Amino acid sequence: TSLFAGIQDAPLDPIMRLFEAFNADTRPGKLNLAIGVYTDADGKVPRLRAVQEAEKRWIDKALPKTYRPIEGTKPFRDAVQELLFGEGAKILTENRAATLQSVGGTGALKIGADVLAKLKPGATVAVSDPTWENHRALFTQAGFTVTDYPYFNAETGGADYPAMRAALETLPAGSIVVLHACCHNPTGADLTAEEWADLVPLMQQRGLVPFLDIAYQGFGIDLDADAEPVRLFAQSGQEFFVASSFSKSFSLYGERVGALTIVAADPAMRAKVEALAKRLVRWSYSNPITHGAAIVEIVLTDKALRADWEKELGQMRERIQEMRVRMADSLHQRHPDRGFEAIKVQKGMFSYTGLTPDEAVRLRDQHEVYALETGRVCVAAINTHNIDRVVDAIDAAVK
Ligand code: PMP
Repeated sequence: TSLFAGIQDAPLDPIMRLFEAFNADTRPGKLNLAIGVYTDADGKVPRLRAVQEAEKRWIDKALPKTYRPIEGTKPFRDAVQELLFGEGAKILTENRAATLQSVGGTGALKIGADVLAKLKPGATVAVSDPTWENHRALFTQAGFTVTDYPYFNAETGGADYPAMRAALETLPAGSIVVLHACCHNPTGADLTAEEWADLVPLMQQRGLVPFLDIAYQGFGIDLDADAEPVRLFAQSGQEFFVASSFSKSFSLYGERVGALTIVAADPAMRAKVEALAKRLVRWSYSNPITHGAAIVEIVLTDKALRADWEKELGQMRERIQEMRVRMADSLHQRHPDRGFEAIKVQKGMFSYTGLTPDEAVRLRDQHEVYALETGRVCVAAINTHNIDRVVDAIDAAVK
């Protein structure tokens, strides 16, 4: 018998399944709002100006393609910390934060999970209900028991902080809590500044381990405001983890650029955990990638390129916001009882629209518009050319 006969068949996650169904769909008008990719006003995945310029400079240098340090280069790591903590932040000089370049945001979560598995084997990991599909799988795979905390309030389209807080109060000390720093995926519902200010000391008092996932920095309010939760945790003095992704903010999805930052109590503990994380990287894939990280490093460390990147990132954010307002207003006008107004308050690339699974299926089968059956729509894939169609299709699907 085959070595592989015992492998249990398991479905791909719903996003990947829908992606395959979309590719197989032969209807010419098909429109994919199920994906997690930003497309511009013309429906294309953008090539950012600063990224293109950095790539030219990088290629012109024709540097040898040698191995990169396991943790990435120092300018890259410093730039990541500055993005997270803010220029001039106290923690930047305290030497208690270790940053390692990672294989996208997913790789940061994975190495962070491996580090935690060494320190807290068998601990519980709590993720938001709902959350990005891969969180649960990734922490389960690392050996944890994964549970969830209530997060979304379907009545308001916002986060349900009181319910979340009550659930966190009952978690055993030492549990790991995965938090979306901004632009919650899949709902678009973020905690308010007041709620974060309440949550940060609660985590500390309860002895919970925060693991912040920041995959959309710059897509919510702005680069600084989106990182505010990370900064609050840094100021609190507690130890925590952060997974950064540059896939969306640099439109560099396939280049796999991200970073894992681990904040320790003091420099000695930082050195210990950094060394452990480096060993785990060495045993997993040895060294990180060069190209994408070099590009991100050039953009973040060159004043003019950085300013241009921030400008273009701001334009992406504003374009999504414009679509949010148009979509929310026209849908609310037609269906005032469906809570569609939340779409314009929600942040980032996604929204929970409140579509039921049946409605999402109708949307796909009868109107060629793909949304997740949870009602998640990628607002970042809507543009002036397709918005009327999207609104009409949702209108018809919910009637
Ligand atoms: N976390 C969240 C919440 C995400 O939405 C994503 C990407 N969809 C990631 C992490 C992973 O990002 P990357 O593609 O850089 O691995």
